[in-house]
Amino acid sequence: MFKINFESDGARGGILQTKSGEFETPFFMPAATMGSGKCITTDDYNSVGLKNIICNALVLSMMPGNDVVRDNGGIHKFINFPGCIFTDCGGFQMSRSMYKGKTSKGLHFVNPFNETKVVITPERIMNIHQDIGSDVAMALDDMAPYGATREEYISALKNTHRWQEQSKKFHTDSKQLLFGIVQGGFQMDLRRISAHFIDSLDFDGVAIGGLAIGEPTTEMYKVLRNVLPIIDKDKPRYVMGLGSPLDIVEAVSQGVDCFDSVYPTKNARNGTLFTSKGNIDITKIKYARDMSPIDSTCDCFVCKHYSKAYMHHLMRIKEPSGKRFRSYHNLYFMQRLIERVRLAIKENSFEKFKKDFIKEQLSSRSA
Ligand SMILES: [Zn+2]
Repeated sequence: MFKINFESDGARGGILQTKSGEFETPFFMPAATMGSGKCITTDDYNSVGLKNIICNALVLSMMPGNDVVRDNGGIHKFINFPGCIFTDCGGFQMSRSMYKGKTSKGLHFVNPFNETKVVITPERIMNIHQDIGSDVAMALDDMAPYGATREEYISALKNTHRWQEQSKKFHTDSKQLLFGIVQGGFQMDLRRISAHFIDSLDFDGVAIGGLAIGEPTTEMYKVLRNVLPIIDKDKPRYVMGLGSPLDIVEAVSQGVDCFDSVYPTKNARNGTLFTSKGNIDITKIKYARDMSPIDSTCDCFVCKHYSKAYMHHLMRIKEPSGKRFRSYHNLYFMQRLIERVRLAIKENSFEKFKKDFIKEQLSSRSA
């Protein structure tokens, strides 16, 4: 179900096989939390060439309801996306107002759509994942925020390990893959303990959670360096929440195979656009009369037909179509980046690619 075909300077290129087909790694997944991206459709994902997305099982169970998704033929049919769909549990939603606390049994939420109380236990969330019918379900974890105390990280880790074991027990759909999640915050000894434990449970893949939550990138890379050597190298490795082009290239060089983030689309909505020479802020007045495309090397339909001046104008008048154009371009950029990463791994020239890419990306910072 996972096979590494190429290796280059620590980076890996492989195939993840799921019930929906074979998917090349490394891959990036945009967040379609409730079965849709914001201001972007699954048709847009398909035309960008994206084969992998991630939805959230907890919020889909609140609205429209996991039974509704199931009775519509499962998530792929419901949202018209034939690719590989991951479903996360909701640990990340713990930072939202809907989160109401936890016990050793599970996480407590209030459904914001009807104000009912919801308790997410491993058994409940595994049933939800299976109803939704995603390709890859994530086991239930508990996550302490960046800056938590050691005691808080230990307490979250104890819950995580218990819930991961129970998730395995309650997950019975043999067609759906189940990935475990390493936690432990920014305490390296806890991260290593967690990596050993999660590795021993023999999941279909291993994710590293609790990263990209506001810590300096040096801290994040330190966690990766401590955790990755412990995880079975034949399993797919997934860093949750990672989505900036530079971070992805760095993580690939450390042997990571998949990523998800709202970063490309959230930034696009706010006016930050990816280009081959680094990010630009389209809200800046200097773009008001700039008739060149967002990125002259990009062949997405936005860059082919529209100027920076028009993108700047749509941003200023807060036109929703502008959000779609900007999100489309950033996702297209990410997808082309991932394709270049895969090619560099196949050609065994990843280190050179990484060096050139970092140089290109930083080139506009001094301009
Ligand atoms: Zn473009």
